[in-house]
Amino acid sequence: MSNMKRIVILGAAESGVGAAVLAKAKGFDVFVSDAGKIKESYKNMLIGHQIDFEEGKHSEDLILNAHEIIKSPGIPEKAEMVKKIRTKQIPVISELEFAARYTNAYKICITGSNGKTTTTSLIFHMLKKAGLNVGLAGNIGQSFAYQVATQDFDYYVLEISNFQLDDMYEFKADIAILLNITPDHLDRYDYDLQRYIDSKFRITQNLTDEEYFIYCSDDELTAREMEKIVTKAKQLPFSLKEKKLPGAYVDNNFIHIGLDDVDFSMSIDELSLKGKHNTYNSMAAGIAGNALRIHNEIIREALSDFKGVEHRLEMVCKVNDISFINDSKATNVNSVWYALECMTTPVIWIAGGTDKGNDYSELFELVKSKVKALVCLGVDNSKLHKAFDDKIKIIQDASSMQEAVRKAFHLASAGETVLLSPACASFDLFENYEDRGRQFKKYVKEL
Ligand code: ADP
Repeated sequence: MSNMKRIVILGAAESGVGAAVLAKAKGFDVFVSDAGKIKESYKNMLIGHQIDFEEGKHSEDLILNAHEIIKSPGIPEKAEMVKKIRTKQIPVISELEFAARYTNAYKICITGSNGKTTTTSLIFHMLKKAGLNVGLAGNIGQSFAYQVATQDFDYYVLEISNFQLDDMYEFKADIAILLNITPDHLDRYDYDLQRYIDSKFRITQNLTDEEYFIYCSDDELTAREMEKIVTKAKQLPFSLKEKKLPGAYVDNNFIHIGLDDVDFSMSIDELSLKGKHNTYNSMAAGIAGNALRIHNEIIREALSDFKGVEHRLEMVCKVNDISFINDSKATNVNSVWYALECMTTPVIWIAGGTDKGNDYSELFELVKSKVKALVCLGVDNSKLHKAFDDKIKIIQDASSMQEAVRKAFHLASAGETVLLSPACASFDLFENYEDRGRQFKKYVKEL
């Protein structure tokens, strides 16, 4: 065996292939293993970089001789190969942990149960506008590792999921943002809520008094945990309920941000992203901008002209004065709550798909006041019926997006809104939430 350090990468998608390219560039003995089929484009990239790989299997003899393993966040702990790796006590890290070793760039890191992509994209938009040499990575677009291997950014805005955080140890954010904690993916934590909370709070690990921790003090689980943990970081909470500085709060329809010598305020009506949840996201982004000493005028402009992200409360178009909104990314009950909360007209709500153990009761009040009709779009709609049959007068079933869009259109009157906000994963009828959102837009445009 060569005396080069061997790095084995499990999972050959965006993050795994990026990690492989970086590891190869840094001179490691690299091997990539994927139990499934590897996408053609990734295979070509591995071949192009002369990286050894296998697909459709995990060969023990080629994996268990690694010095370090980089695991894709999609592979759960209970996977056979992961168990064997743990037994042999081979260190397992995430792609972000690995890539961070090879860059001195300033890292703004965003995690939370909901709003990560939106807030990450908004902060990226702001930093670009400020003229900074910045990359966007993490769960979005090109992997962090690939960018570290091929680019030379001074700043990164990183969207980080709890699965990635689970395999991060030395990594340190410069600005850490925790948007909220609502139970999701509990199946991966043996239904132990505290383990899920601990995982999210890993975003604060290694922070010193030089770094910032931005969090939502209205979020119950976050606030409760903050009483228990010790962090040296400069704490910057944001809230719609309390008026505390440093941090951000809302008063009289204005957001106020203050830290050190910086002071910023802006009307909520000027924010391009609408709804309470987006006020939170905008406050988090605004604080980050202030911490980075970006000029107030640039922050204001960024918060008011950001176009939003596809499939998140995305306004598609109006047909016969009926508005169609694509919120296909709302895959849990909490994000539907925020979507319904910001609706200002009667709603024809399209929901359903693969239920992840949803408890719909937190939606009952909003549904009563906002929803005129429900179109259930899923292979098995029984849970939706059980929850809403006695609460919504009109409920219809659909088994394809085309049928759902047509039914919703017939049920809607001028001035009303058709909202696709499913509260469920999409895998029963669609490839993923993007496919579901794109089909929605396609059939709306064909009306
Ligand atoms: P994530 O990347 O964490 O999944 P997204 O930005 O993609 O979050 O948004 C996912 C869904 O959550 C969308 O339906 C969006 O409207 C909703 N959402 C966005 N921000 C928040 C927030 N701060 N709190 C609750 N829901 C939110």
